[in-house]
Amino acid sequence: MKEAHPLKLSRSLAEFERGKTLTPGGVLGIRRPYNFVEGEYPIYVTDGQGCRITDMDGNQYIDYLCAYGPIILGYREHEVDEAVIAQIKDHGFCFSLTQPIQNVLAEKLRSLIPSAEMSIFVKTGSDATSLAIRIARGYTQRLKVLRCGYHGWHDWCVEVKGGVPPKLFEDVLEFHYNDIDGLESLLKEHGSDTAAIIITPFGHPLAEKLEEPRDNFLQKVRDLADHYGCVLIFDEIRTGFRMSLGGAQAHYGVTPDISAFGKAMANGYEISAVVGKQHIMAIAEKEVFVSSTFFPNSLSMVAALKTIEILERDNVLGTIWSRGEKFLTDMRATVQQSGVPAEVSGIPPMQFITFQKDPEKKYKQKRNDFFTQLIRRGVFMQPYHHGYICYRHTPADLDHTMAMIRESLQYVAEKNY
Ligand code: PMP
Repeated sequence: MKEAHPLKLSRSLAEFERGKTLTPGGVLGIRRPYNFVEGEYPIYVTDGQGCRITDMDGNQYIDYLCAYGPIILGYREHEVDEAVIAQIKDHGFCFSLTQPIQNVLAEKLRSLIPSAEMSIFVKTGSDATSLAIRIARGYTQRLKVLRCGYHGWHDWCVEVKGGVPPKLFEDVLEFHYNDIDGLESLLKEHGSDTAAIIITPFGHPLAEKLEEPRDNFLQKVRDLADHYGCVLIFDEIRTGFRMSLGGAQAHYGVTPDISAFGKAMANGYEISAVVGKQHIMAIAEKEVFVSSTFFPNSLSMVAALKTIEILERDNVLGTIWSRGEKFLTDMRATVQQSGVPAEVSGIPPMQFITFQKDPEKKYKQKRNDFFTQLIRRGVFMQPYHHGYICYRHTPADLDHTMAMIRESLQYVAEKNY
């Protein structure tokens, strides 16, 4: 298979040099070039429409990162944007008092999400997971937190520890997805002082295979939380409004006490929610404090309600699941037929191609080559983070993508390493 032509990225790269003099690292964290293939991926995007994005140099891509999750319908989704514009023009959105739309959204979540008796609206996923932990600690009057998954950038869970005093995370202990014995042994030691178990209900560790619960894992976690009297928190930031309208908890039939929702909830507008059982959430009435200037702003609530309306009206998730089912099946077959030592994992709305590790670490070059060939062919996927599909990925887009995956794998299969 012929090597695809390198992309013209000169504007992006020059802008990045300027950015580095203005912002530490030029761009933040997960969007930095080392998270892609350096020199092969664009750094700045200027436009998005449907499932496509356009970079500063005018290259267009079919995008499978979906802004790291928020894009569930598509970029620049007219109906959602029009609802937001109408709110700006007809009412306004930033006030000294709360707008009644907050109740409308909370009622909507209550009708869809099994654990959502009450809701608190915040802005980011990290806001929501951190608030959930504070509520659990306030409610139980206990200290320890047992965690599994990525939960954001705040002090209690950030992976990079610079600037964070150890006392802010030393009571937070980690266990692995699907490792019920690991969780149980932590609880044997710390159970009576454990405030919360927080877990992503679907396993999506960075750069590793995606994992569904095995052997009744989530129910066993639920049972352990009950046995030790700790609050069970599902971090549904990625699964919410994607796996099902009621999140992974509705999909797998295990109800936590509290959950964090965000990302896909408003098709890109910034909102997240802590939802949970009334008797636990009530602690945030007095003892646990939460307030922020922008939390009650209504634009993203309008966007959330409109997004959810479209998700329900057009059976969006049903469509994503059925298209994703074929996409995942084709991807498995394509990878297997290529002979490249790679694996496909995931569920229809979220899928990932990971490269099998070898002692000589040749997989790193193979991975770089594969994702280089793919981006040059106009398919935007991330080497260390799974992909998502959104409603605007048409069957033709998905088939075209599969052809590009096939060519890129063939390139790797034919190269000598
Ligand atoms: N939890 C999960 C499962 C996430 O995937 C993320 C973001 N990737 C977060 C929490 C943090 O969300 P945010 O980046 O919006 O703060």
